[in-house]
Amino acid sequence: MKRAAILLPLAILGAACGAPPAPIATAGAVDHAAPAPAPRVSGPVDALREGVLASSQALATVRSLTDEAGPRLSGSPGNKAGIAWALRALGEAGFAKVHAEACAVPHWERGEEKGAILEPSLQPLALAALGGSVGTPPEGLEGEVIEAASLEALDKLDPAKVAGRIVFLYVKMERTRDGSGYGAAVTPRGKGAIQAAKLGAAAVLIRSIGTDDNRTPHTGAMRYDDKVPKIPAAALANPDADVLHRLLAEGKRVRVRLSLGARSLPDAEGANVVGDVEGSGAPGEIVLLGAHLDSWDLGRGAIDDGAGCAIVMEAGRQIARLPRHPRRTVRVVLFANEENGLRGAHAYATAHAAEVGSHVLALEADLGAGRVYEARFLGPATAMAAFRAVAAAADPLGSVASDKEAHGGADLSPLMALGVPVIDLRQDATTYFDFHHTANDTLERVNKADIDQAAAAFAAVAYAAADSPADFGRIPEAKRQHD
Ligand code: ZN
Ligand code: ZN
Repeated sequence: MKRAAILLPLAILGAACGAPPAPIATAGAVDHAAPAPAPRVSGPVDALREGVLASSQALATVRSLTDEAGPRLSGSPGNKAGIAWALRALGEAGFAKVHAEACAVPHWERGEEKGAILEPSLQPLALAALGGSVGTPPEGLEGEVIEAASLEALDKLDPAKVAGRIVFLYVKMERTRDGSGYGAAVTPRGKGAIQAAKLGAAAVLIRSIGTDDNRTPHTGAMRYDDKVPKIPAAALANPDADVLHRLLAEGKRVRVRLSLGARSLPDAEGANVVGDVEGSGAPGEIVLLGAHLDSWDLGRGAIDDGAGCAIVMEAGRQIARLPRHPRRTVRVVLFANEENGLRGAHAYATAHAAEVGSHVLALEADLGAGRVYEARFLGPATAMAAFRAVAAAADPLGSVASDKEAHGGADLSPLMALGVPVIDLRQDATTYFDFHHTANDTLERVNKADIDQAAAAFAAVAYAAADSPADFGRIPEAKRQHD
């Protein structure tokens, strides 16, 4: 930790001198009449950050959640067990006002599934239905495969060549530290079944949206359009997708069979689980730390998003133990149903509509268990100085404040649409998409030193924001994400 030793005095120095005041806002860039004074990062933040590193229970929290509740897909027994676990764990961690806020969630079940290449030679395929897919007929579905390199390429295919066939979307996801390869590759998963059905396809297969070469297919959400037939949709493990791709590139006629037992059931009951560390000076003002409690069914939801739950819970637990709480309330929200509906996120924004203006800032941990390396902000330009001062609380951990705009987490999108500013604490996601949404999303993927660093970063920044006198303003209308 040489870097911490070097940077720590700088943080203290910054506190002693105070950040220079932001320039007075001029007409045309005004969200607030005058910039708030820059807050300072002081001794308690340094002690908190070091305290998290010394005594973090984040890994134990992921272990407890994943061992006791297992996978937590909305509507599943594991989801109910996860809610009960969260209510208990937040209470034990010292949060106040711990409660569940019920909401209806989709209920989809995977059932039995298998696939095989029939021609040119018989061999099994490792595949997983995409979340929300319809099943195949019980006897399965067979067809000749036609490949497309993108949705745009699919649209250009002759419908006569697609009709009755199995469309295979072959898109490779790029490995990046910030996880941006995911956003670039994920569209065919969401829309592939709609586009293929418009051309008369019988089913759609995609190369998994993942960066590994294991025979562990990556599931994930997909959508239908009521105006076109609902066709089965599944992801192939990447080595299996690559076999299909090579055979087709060689000009071979490829036939596959798939059998998916997937089905949708009536909505079930889910819940957001909420706990507060009550502010000591302005308890009505809220810094929200979010993560999602639900997970896909194939693994145990350790990195997605047990790790995020553990990071924000550990941040809150350590802040709750301090002799003096920060001025504002730090609220942890473990959202329902991020994976296949965002029902929890919308339910929270609806239920708390009257106090949206009191949510001064929101952060979400939903990119695994990796180390935080960068802080980003989305809010008014007038609050950039306040953001930088608060983000400095994580500098000694090797995090750097960036001018790039934050995206917020998916669960924060309804709040962002209402103007609530967000800070991203970007975690290293270099290996995250090797395991994301697969059977290998298990406790073994979580490294203690890394998740403890992330928990320390969230704790320090949350504390600094909650104890800051600064007004972080609202996201300018033009930059709000409307969903
Ligand atoms: Zn997630
Ligand atoms: Zn996910």
